[in-house]
Amino acid sequence: MRIVERETGGDYERLLLAHEPGVGYRGVIAVHSTALGPAVGGTRFWNYATEDEAVTDALRLARGMTYKNALAGIPFGGGKSIIVGDNRTREREPIYRAHGRFVETLGGSYITAEDVGTGPSDVALMSLETRHIAGLLERSGDPSPVTARGVFRAIQASAKWRWGSDELCGRRVALQGCGSVGRHLARELSEVGASLVVSDTDEGKVGLVVKETGAEAVAPVEIFDAEADIFAPCALGGILNDETIPRLKVEVVAGAANNQLLEPRHGDALAARGILYAPDYAANAGGIINGCRELLGWDAAHALAKVEELYDTLLRIYSLARSEGVHPYVAADHLAEQRLREAR
Ligand code: NAD
Repeated sequence: MRIVERETGGDYERLLLAHEPGVGYRGVIAVHSTALGPAVGGTRFWNYATEDEAVTDALRLARGMTYKNALAGIPFGGGKSIIVGDNRTREREPIYRAHGRFVETLGGSYITAEDVGTGPSDVALMSLETRHIAGLLERSGDPSPVTARGVFRAIQASAKWRWGSDELCGRRVALQGCGSVGRHLARELSEVGASLVVSDTDEGKVGLVVKETGAEAVAPVEIFDAEADIFAPCALGGILNDETIPRLKVEVVAGAANNQLLEPRHGDALAARGILYAPDYAANAGGIINGCRELLGWDAAHALAKVEELYDTLLRIYSLARSEGVHPYVAADHLAEQRLREAR
């Protein structure tokens, strides 16, 4: 395997690119910070148009993990890795084993887990090559239901802040992405009586959610125009941008996707439209909190209790935003940066 280290010119600790031509593997690992502990962040398997696009995404996602872990109050830094390619491939074993070997070269300063395109069975393949892994089924398992629970709590807190009640019965939620997290979130929302309008680029996944919850399905491009109270992005990042924000007909945005704001200024654009935005890395911390079961030996009940507390974390962010006169995405950064300063 050929591994090249690249300078980032930013405040990142490491950026590494790997290539193993024999198995058609290309990977990226970005370590943003190990100030609080080893960098933890999942492996994304995605078909980026260029290597630079993959690197940019890895860097953004790694920084997000630093902030997420700091805000969640857990002793981990932030990192992320990417496998570049078509994640529908059947040749998973050689690719994930190559990625596992790449992760192993960092000697534990980076720990990986699931992310978009990577499931628990893929994590098991990586574990054949590296010990620096979380999310194995026989240990803490698939984080997605727990992430969904945390997002559900973040939606409740946002409803409380916006409408004075966290009751979601009768609320309408536009949910983008019916994958691992989206599907569980849809179930939780429908169980409390919320109605759903959903989209996914994969028709099979939409079909399952429609069947399970009675949701209305719309085409992927139409989800931004849906008449609803809440928009829950659970697909990919960058979807809150100049093109989509003016179209939203909701009062709250709270979902699981990482890096929902294309640029920080889009947090301001949401606020200018009077839309309450639950900072993504606060709302979606359930997965990494679940990972603490195997990383820190927490029992399942303790991890779940911590996930329930995301409700209070969100309310603390909204309250700080009000008292500091900033938007919630800035207040969340302030809370995370305070913890990083204390650690340093
Ligand atoms: P997933 O791959 O299971 O689901 C993502 C879904 O989004 C897929 O079904 C995909 O078809 C769909 N999608 C892609 N582009 C779309 C588009 N333009 N419109 C509609 N749907 C589209 O991934 P996941 O594990 O459910 O994660 C979802 C998001 O939540 C990701 O951004 C991930 O980084 C984030 N996240 C996940 C976890 C977790 O525990 N899995 C934890 C924290 C954050």
